[in-house]
Amino acid sequence: MTEFGLIRRYFDRPVSMWPAGHAQSLLPVHATGQPAGVPALGIGDDCALLNLPAADQQWAISSDMLVEGRHFFAGTDPAAIGHKALAVNLSDLAAMGAWPVGFTLALALPAADQQWLDAFCQGMFALAARAACPLVGGDTTRGPLTISITIFGQLTRGQALRRDGARPFDEIWVSGSLGAAALAVACRQQGREAPDEAARRLDWPEPRLKAGLQLVGLASAAMDLSDGLAGDLGHLLEASSHRCGQPLGAVIQAESLPLDPVLKHVPAAVRPEDGGLRYALYGGDDYELLFTVPPAQHDAVLTCCPEARMIGRIVPDDSTIFLERADGRCTPLLARGYDHFAT
Ligand code: ADP
Ligand code: MG
Repeated sequence: MTEFGLIRRYFDRPVSMWPAGHAQSLLPVHATGQPAGVPALGIGDDCALLNLPAADQQWAISSDMLVEGRHFFAGTDPAAIGHKALAVNLSDLAAMGAWPVGFTLALALPAADQQWLDAFCQGMFALAARAACPLVGGDTTRGPLTISITIFGQLTRGQALRRDGARPFDEIWVSGSLGAAALAVACRQQGREAPDEAARRLDWPEPRLKAGLQLVGLASAAMDLSDGLAGDLGHLLEASSHRCGQPLGAVIQAESLPLDPVLKHVPAAVRPEDGGLRYALYGGDDYELLFTVPPAQHDAVLTCCPEARMIGRIVPDDSTIFLERADGRCTPLLARGYDHFAT
C-alpha cells in the first residue's frame, strides 16, 4: 500500500455526525454554544480549513501523544488504542468546557498492517462520531508506533473552565468513580489479567464532555484526572494559589472518595491494604473531571452531574492537601502524580 493509498483508505472519510441526544452521544442535549457545521475543507490539501468561530468564541486546542511501551502495553487491542488516543484529547476539551470541532492525527507506524489499521480506525471513528468531532488532517510516517492527536474545540470567550479559578472554601468534586484504571495497571504489571471492569476503564476511557459542558458557569476551576487525584489536585491548587495571591490547600474526606466498585473484588495479589484508597489517590488514567464550585452551586451540580461526588473543600493559608479519615484523623498527602521525567 502507498502512503497516499493508506491515507485515502483509512483516514479520509466523512464523519457521520451523531446528533446530540442520541443514546451514544457524549454531548449534552440542552446547552448553548455548540459549533455549527463541518470543516470547510478536510483531508486532501496541504491544510485543513476551519471557519473562524464567531467573535464571542475562542478556540480550545490541545495535543496528546501515545507511545507504545510508555502509554500502552505492546499488543494492546488496536481498537482500544484508537479510542484512547482520541479519548484523552476529548477529555482535555471536556476539562475546559469546550465543544469538539475537529482533530488532526500524526501517526508513526512500524508497518501498514491492514488488520491493525482497520481496528484502530474502528475504535477511533466510533468515538469521533459520538463526539461529533471529525478527523480533518494529519501526517503518516513509518516509525515506532506513536499516535499524536491535536484537537480543536470551541467555547464562549471568558467561559473556559480553567484550573486556576478555585477560591477558599469552594467545594471539591469529581465527576465519577476513581481507581479502577490503576488497578488494571497494577494487574498487568504483575503479568495478571485485570478484572474486566478495570481493564475497560483503562483501555476505553469515556471523556466526560457532557459534564464539562454542563459545568460551564457553575465550576470555579476544573481539570481532567490523568495522573492521579493527589498530583492533579496539587496542580489545581498551585495554579489557583498563584492566581488568587494566597496559599490554597485542601481537605479531602477519605470516606467521600467514590472508589470504583471493582476495587471491592480485587484479586488477592494486587489487593491494597487500604481498600483501594491508594489507587484512587495516586493512580492515573481515570479521566474523570476534578472540579471546584462555590458552595452555593452544590445543588446545581447534583442536578447537572448526578454521578459527581463532593470529596472535600479548598482551605486557605496552607498549601497542604490533607486526607481526613472517618475518625477525624488528618494526614497530609504527598502531592505526587505521574511524572515521565522523575528521577
Ligand atoms: P503534506 O505533503 O502537505 O505534508 P501529506 O502528504 O502529509 O501532506 O498528507 C496529505 C493529506 O493527507 C493532508 O491533507 C493531510 O492532512 C492528510 N493526512 C496525512 N496523514 C493523515 C492522517 N494520519 N490522518 C488524517 N489525515 C492525514
Ligand atoms: Mg505531511
